[in-house]
Amino acid sequence: MRIIDKVYIDGSFVTPKGSETADLYNPSTEEKIGTVRLGGIEDAHEAIAAAKRAFPAFSRTTKAERVEMLKRLNAAVAARVSDLTQAMALEYGAPQTFTRFAIPHAASSFLTMAKVLEDYDFERQMGRARVVMQPSGVAAAITPWNSNIGFITSKLATAIAAGTTIVIKPSEMSATQTQILTECLHEAGLPKGVFNIVNGFGSIVGAELSRHPDIAKVTFTGSTAVGREILRSAADTFKRVTLELGGKGPNIILDDADLDVTIPAVLRMGFINSGQACIAGTRILVPSHRLDEVLARLKQEIETFKIGAPDDPDAMIGPMVSQKQYDRVQSYIELGTRQGACLLTGGLGRPAGLERGWFTKLTIFTHVNNQMRIAREEIFGPVLSVISYRDEDEAVSIANDTPYGLQAYLHGTDVARMQALADRLESGRVVVNGAPHEPLAPFGGFKQSGIGREYGVFGLEAFLEPKAVIAS
Ligand code: NAD
Repeated sequence: MRIIDKVYIDGSFVTPKGSETADLYNPSTEEKIGTVRLGGIEDAHEAIAAAKRAFPAFSRTTKAERVEMLKRLNAAVAARVSDLTQAMALEYGAPQTFTRFAIPHAASSFLTMAKVLEDYDFERQMGRARVVMQPSGVAAAITPWNSNIGFITSKLATAIAAGTTIVIKPSEMSATQTQILTECLHEAGLPKGVFNIVNGFGSIVGAELSRHPDIAKVTFTGSTAVGREILRSAADTFKRVTLELGGKGPNIILDDADLDVTIPAVLRMGFINSGQACIAGTRILVPSHRLDEVLARLKQEIETFKIGAPDDPDAMIGPMVSQKQYDRVQSYIELGTRQGACLLTGGLGRPAGLERGWFTKLTIFTHVNNQMRIAREEIFGPVLSVISYRDEDEAVSIANDTPYGLQAYLHGTDVARMQALADRLESGRVVVNGAPHEPLAPFGGFKQSGIGREYGVFGLEAFLEPKAVIAS
């Protein structure tokens, strides 16, 4: 049993004043693996005060000093890749096929930001004005459970690059991963108070960070519903907000697509992170004249996606993170059938041979129209909908007919045509033919997928305020 009973404030691991606890589980076995003692309002206040004390000196550090800190953070996280991987496997059920990318990527976010910082000019001349980009003030980060380590490192890296101190509130369901990551970050030896990490319930610690007058900026990744609450709380003191929220990504197969390469890519994008991903391409758009062919290939290809616990090196899909998430996914599968969609594959219940653990069947619905709830709402599990379209215009119109706009996928052979189509999609990112992640490019959503952008220069500037100094 793991007992996690410390939070990280002002450079030290301290016992929180809050006394509530939450249980931690292994989603592959449903067994309880530990408890975490949660911070409360007082802990949030202490963390904010520490970040506020550290801010004046930290915001005046030089670029070179901060580049150096980012390199130390990278080295400290990279040194414990295997411990972090084990924690993510145990507590989140992430398959090795995912952690092999996710953990090194999390460590590298410090180096990527160091490069952005090295190349970034904090001062520029605009007419008669000297324009200085200055840190907005103490920041708060609130992160979800589906990629706990990566979200913390990318938000922290950006805050450090900007010269901003920060209070981080991770998901209470990820405390084992957070504990090891915090130990790594502590090893990097940054000045105390620059970053503070407080486990706690969203409704208590997260809500306090969203309304506290000493927080100037909130960067949040999570559900659209909570994002809306944070935006409302932040309004009273006009905090700067970056919100990375949900998605219902269109995964568009064009009529010239080579199905040998497209079908595996479509499923990889649909089932990314076991379907628990805001960027998942969950609406598969198919030209109606190729529908039968595509359905047959999807049904065949899905058999190659092995579901299993993280100790199985071949498993590509892990369990849902919790009983609640399992039930949510099941309820959407039930809803799809009730609303008239047909199952191509999958359905209710656990996959054969996996009687324990919050594993769900990989599910694809056909006969879906874009107005059905399974096509409009984020399910956050391995459940995909196939929607047919007549022509390119209709494909664009279905793709854009959603409250979300985070990440879209195009699959075809004519790259110039796909570049032109990408321009018509209301989506923060458009991925052509399964291209890999680009950490320097902005990430974030149109419409209810959020506000603002993370990563690269756009992410850095979201922590900065321009100040014009005009001299005659
Ligand atoms: P969630 O919104 O329930 O929780 C996210 C974080 O917010 C947690 O730390 C939680 O404790 C905190 N929180 C909850 N209520 C709060 C409140 N009232 N005030 C302040 N903080 C509060 O999301 P989740 O269930 O942890 O994660 C799944 C959701 O996250 C999905 O909807 C998914 O689309 C979204 N997500 C988005 C992205 C993205 O980059 N766009 C990435 C991953 C996940």
